Amino acid sequence: MLFPKKRVRRVTEISIDYLRSKGIRGLILDIDNTLTTHDNPIPSEGVAHWLDLMRENGIKMIVLSNNHGPRVEPFAKILGLDYIAEGKKPLSSGFKRCAAALDLSKEQLCIIGDQIFTDVLGGNWYGCHSILVEPIQPESTAFFKFKRFWERIILFFYKEGERG
Ligand SMILES: [Mg+2]
Repeated sequence: MLFPKKRVRRVTEISIDYLRSKGIRGLILDIDNTLTTHDNPIPSEGVAHWLDLMRENGIKMIVLSNNHGPRVEPFAKILGLDYIAEGKKPLSSGFKRCAAALDLSKEQLCIIGDQIFTDVLGGNWYGCHSILVEPIQPESTAFFKFKRFWERIILFFYKEGERG
């Protein structure tokens, strides 16, 4: 439940060939520390280009963020993406809304995010594919450090390739 199907350093490393090989036709995208750093209004380098590449290849996309509307809406609009804010990951409700919005089944969907306890757990719980990216920037709050500590333990036991 806590293991991603695949791990990459940056979202831009995810290829069309990989998605096709897994039958994935839609992406559910986290924002903070996945598409850019926390609360940064500007997408990280290469992200807009990567999104265009996905679009050109018929991959549907939607943003699912636990952050609030005023953070999520302007960022999604810059990138021309639909979005769901206050998504309550890891609960399945947000994932179901994404599937309905994209008109795809869970088997055709992949969550991409930087957190095991919201993005990966939520995707596995819901039943879609999951890709974990490395957080772009380390967080400073005690709560995040606590979560990252447990993530490191889980990733120690995670072996790339066994599930991918
Ligand atoms: Mg995040």
